[in-house]
Amino acid sequence: MQYLHLSLTQVPGLLPKKIAILQKEAGLETVLDLLQWYPFRYIDRTRVYLSSELSEELPLIQLVGKLQNIKLIGEGKKQRMSAQLRDAAGSIELVWFQGYKFLHEKLQNGKEYLVFGKPSLFNGSWSIAHPEIELFFPEKLAQASRMQAVYSSTDRMKKSQLDSKGLSLIIRQVLQYVKGRVPESLSEELIQEHQLIRLEDALWGIHFPTTVEQQQQAEKRLKFDELFFLQIRLIRQNLVNKQQIKGFPLQKVGNPFMEFYEKHLPFPLTQAQKRVIKEIRNDVAKPIQMNRLVQGDVGSGKTIVAFMSMLIAIGNGYQACLMAPTEILAQQHYYSLSAYAETIGISIELLTGSVGQKQRRKIHAELESGSLSILVGTHALLEDKVKFANLGFVVIDEQHRFGVAQRARLWAKNTLPPHVLIMSATPIPRTLAMTLYGDLDVSVIDELPPGRKPIRTVHRYESQRPEVLNFIKSEIALGRQIYIVYPLIEESEQLDYRNLFEGYEHLLSWFPAPQYHISIVHGRLKPDDKEFEMQRFVKRETQIMVATTVIEVGVNVPNASVMIVESAERFGLSQLHQLRGRVGRGAEQSYCILMTGLKLSADARIRLKTMCDTNDGFRIAEVDLRLRGPGDLQGTQQSGSLDLKLADLSRDAGLVGWCREVAYKVLENDPDLEKPENKNIAQRLMHLEQKHKNWGRIS
Ligand code: ADP
Ligand code: MG
Repeated sequence: MQYLHLSLTQVPGLLPKKIAILQKEAGLETVLDLLQWYPFRYIDRTRVYLSSELSEELPLIQLVGKLQNIKLIGEGKKQRMSAQLRDAAGSIELVWFQGYKFLHEKLQNGKEYLVFGKPSLFNGSWSIAHPEIELFFPEKLAQASRMQAVYSSTDRMKKSQLDSKGLSLIIRQVLQYVKGRVPESLSEELIQEHQLIRLEDALWGIHFPTTVEQQQQAEKRLKFDELFFLQIRLIRQNLVNKQQIKGFPLQKVGNPFMEFYEKHLPFPLTQAQKRVIKEIRNDVAKPIQMNRLVQGDVGSGKTIVAFMSMLIAIGNGYQACLMAPTEILAQQHYYSLSAYAETIGISIELLTGSVGQKQRRKIHAELESGSLSILVGTHALLEDKVKFANLGFVVIDEQHRFGVAQRARLWAKNTLPPHVLIMSATPIPRTLAMTLYGDLDVSVIDELPPGRKPIRTVHRYESQRPEVLNFIKSEIALGRQIYIVYPLIEESEQLDYRNLFEGYEHLLSWFPAPQYHISIVHGRLKPDDKEFEMQRFVKRETQIMVATTVIEVGVNVPNASVMIVESAERFGLSQLHQLRGRVGRGAEQSYCILMTGLKLSADARIRLKTMCDTNDGFRIAEVDLRLRGPGDLQGTQQSGSLDLKLADLSRDAGLVGWCREVAYKVLENDPDLEKPENKNIAQRLMHLEQKHKNWGRIS
């Protein structure tokens, strides 16, 4: 009998009305759901802290000391009450900004008080705002001593006595009911080896800890459970994919590859590029479909890796395609790849929404006859009319914009699924990649081509604009080109366009024709006009390109040396990093200038500072992850389905890696979890898999 999976309605003594509210407001249906409604913090009444022991991480704590120097400071609305609490170790300030009138009359200088609140550091000294405060009686303290869990609840829940206290009561009731009957989810061996406490004890410990240590033990065990089973599922999924999805073995490297490699390489490959090509080569030689993610920072040279991988497929008699998320990107790829393909006489075409009927029909025919080797395009490639003679290799650029379903449609374009290479310029911290792409193999191009000078990034305020414009002038005088990028988001589209056009007008006055020419590219232009403007810039007919984020990914103009981001505070970190990656592609010193107004949020400041401090995409991704949480990170929108309640992929990075190792070891010894000692694990897994039937592919 699986008590954890009982419906709450089956637990004796719970009021149906309350169950209904829990279900409606919080989606809690089963015993386990309720027991996983974990506290979001604790009130630590287990001990009295000293004023010398304070740190920002502490929960609400209690202090005991003599009250001194009670006074009112300031006047009118700004008035506040302040007092010092002096204990054996020193003193701490207590402040009240409102509602202190009664307290002010009651509190007495020189008496001993028990104070309860959250300490915070302000201008280098500790204080507690609005503490609970009462006269100190040692006897009373002993009785109240415990850790108290605090739960979140909605207004409706609160109205039905399901506030923090009410939830605590009902959770205790349910825990009492399942006492001694909570099935253990881990094997005895794992529990012993990793010094974990039992699941049942952990559930008590997380809700009703008596000490900080007990709470921490419980938290560790429950996080371990979440991450361990997550990894077990991911690893198994990866194994299943590898066993079941047959693919074309591309047995030889083939002539096109060899010819290109020996005679037409435009530059020596970096070690990282060579390594990744080798990894791909090893994969595709097997009769199993490759699913590989290539991560590489902007400018790391993914294009040529993709091209040379395609050549292997072509050398084995197959066709290849590259799918990009936007028209501009597809065009850009088409130009880069054409230049390579031309050298060895490989046919290549571009198919996007704006390709005319005649050209389209020609492409369709060449594809079906097999005379076309490489097709580059956008979503247009997915249309049913696009049929390949034998598609063997698919490159997907910036996969986060394509859903799983779309990927599947590409696969369906053949009897056996083609090998799939996904290129991502969004660096994802290793732990997260391991988790999110557990069913993909990951290659990393962790080296930039030689000779690149690190881009210098600075933050400038609106008032410094003349300086910035003069700097642009001096760079143009040196023969360089400039990007100026404006934010554009749907919610404020009208206003954003106005800013863009006003900015453009203003630039025209600073950079008048005929000496200067400015391109402007944005989403309201027709694809042809966009392309025309882009090409003017690529051909150096214009010195400045003003654009919305359409140039965010993929544009390659090595002569561009300055990237100016307007309203930089409105961009996310990974977006800023992508934008900056548009410069620094040539040998010249490049610059990124982040323009903002004076008013900046704390997060925006961190983002700007991070950009100025580092060019390292992985470090930036770590900060991004910390600021936003994994759910928001590009390409990881699905991470909600990971079902993590306590564990946090960025904060618990160490634990993620550890759990992955443990999970690997378990599956290595017992791939199908059939051994008796793994019975608990198998059972828990079965339940999880029932709950997430369509979970298989989260990437
Ligand atoms: P990304 O990884 O951002 O797609 P690209 O493939 O566009 O990067 O390459 C960025 C620039 O670096 C291009 O101009 C490309 O020609 C150049 N490049 C790529 N690999 C090398 C290399 N090994 N040596 C020198 N330049 C390279
Ligand atoms: Mg690229």
